[in-house]
Amino acid sequence: MSRLKRRNFITALTSGLLGLGVSKHMSAGPALSFPGQKESAAPKINKYKDLGKTGLKVPDVSFGAISLFEPNVLRYAYECGVTYFDTAESYLRMKGEAYVGQGLKEVRDKVIITTKHGQNFRQKIEKAAFIQRLEASLKRLQTDHIDIAMIHSLDDLSLALNNQELMSAYEQLKKEGKVRFTGFSTHNAKVTLKQALDTDFAQVILFQYNHMEGKEIEPHIKAARQKGIGTVAMKVFAGGMQGNLKSMVNQQTSYPQAAIRWVMSNPDVDTCIPTMSSYSHVEEYVATSGQPLDRTSLQMLASYERQVHSVYCRVSCRECLSACPNNVAVNDVLRYAMYFEHYGREKEAIGYYADLEPERKPLGCENCAAPCESACPYGLRVKAKLQHSHEILTA
Ligand code: SF4
Ligand code: SF4
Repeated sequence: MSRLKRRNFITALTSGLLGLGVSKHMSAGPALSFPGQKESAAPKINKYKDLGKTGLKVPDVSFGAISLFEPNVLRYAYECGVTYFDTAESYLRMKGEAYVGQGLKEVRDKVIITTKHGQNFRQKIEKAAFIQRLEASLKRLQTDHIDIAMIHSLDDLSLALNNQELMSAYEQLKKEGKVRFTGFSTHNAKVTLKQALDTDFAQVILFQYNHMEGKEIEPHIKAARQKGIGTVAMKVFAGGMQGNLKSMVNQQTSYPQAAIRWVMSNPDVDTCIPTMSSYSHVEEYVATSGQPLDRTSLQMLASYERQVHSVYCRVSCRECLSACPNNVAVNDVLRYAMYFEHYGREKEAIGYYADLEPERKPLGCENCAAPCESACPYGLRVKAKLQHSHEILTA
């Protein structure tokens, strides 16, 4: 499609020209209300990069299909030039993959689909059962292959690599052509990115990287990229709290645009996956494709950092964990609260929290002197935040 116009896309949708049904939840279409966008012309991806040594080309701004309720938004992103879509078995309790399948089935051979499967690797895994889970994902995604199959949210890659049943399952799926490439996502990049250098399993990695918690893992990202591993950044909005803050939009840029520019200014990052839940998200984020990090963006990021410095839990930090006598999973609990309060993923966040082992929940905080707070380098009121998190996640 040449210069895509939003009105044309909506017309094509409603007339069936794009081969898509119109959802009963279909909104009036994109808003084109973000800074720097001309009326009526939708933005296009104008930069594609190699995804490590996979041979795949990916747009610099890709699609995080996490909180998504309108499959046509995926197709709209594709028409804007987005060709990399990231989902997971657990997103929206398996409905996330179904939305991706529905939204992209007409253009399946032109897009790259990544999905992820999590597991407690300290527990026994049956190879056949794991293969069945991947095959169920194929059905939901309406495809015969997954381009990149990732292990979801790994803290320690060695646990997965030492699991013979798991590795054998992925090997078989690759041989059968049901999986093209393998990798993992992680919130513990300081450890796992180093581990990824010693295995061929990690062909693509997905890690938390943003302007507030990224500097210390940059050498590891570079080393991974030099090895030929595809590098994908997630959680690029550093907690996504811009909606509650002052001055997070001006004539030239919005906070999300500035945050994407920051991440993609690192040449070792192949792409990033901001969550796109609406047409306006697609347009706002795609509009940053190929744009350099400018002074206005840096000022916007500095303003954000000043406002959230002492409230944002850097999920990959983990500094307080060893200070807690009760082994509370501080960063995980605060991450689930972030999903609940700032990502619009309330039900999923409650589900994740319900699945957390009871002994890792902040149930003993009330009578504790809170050594976690003196261990936190950013001065977070950890105890109060945990108690608040428990309340909202169990409401
Ligand atoms: S307040 Fe809670 S999280 Fe902090 S050290 Fe005490 S038990 Fe651990
Ligand atoms: S509460 Fe503070 S020390 Fe603990 S993980 Fe979050 S940012 Fe790091």
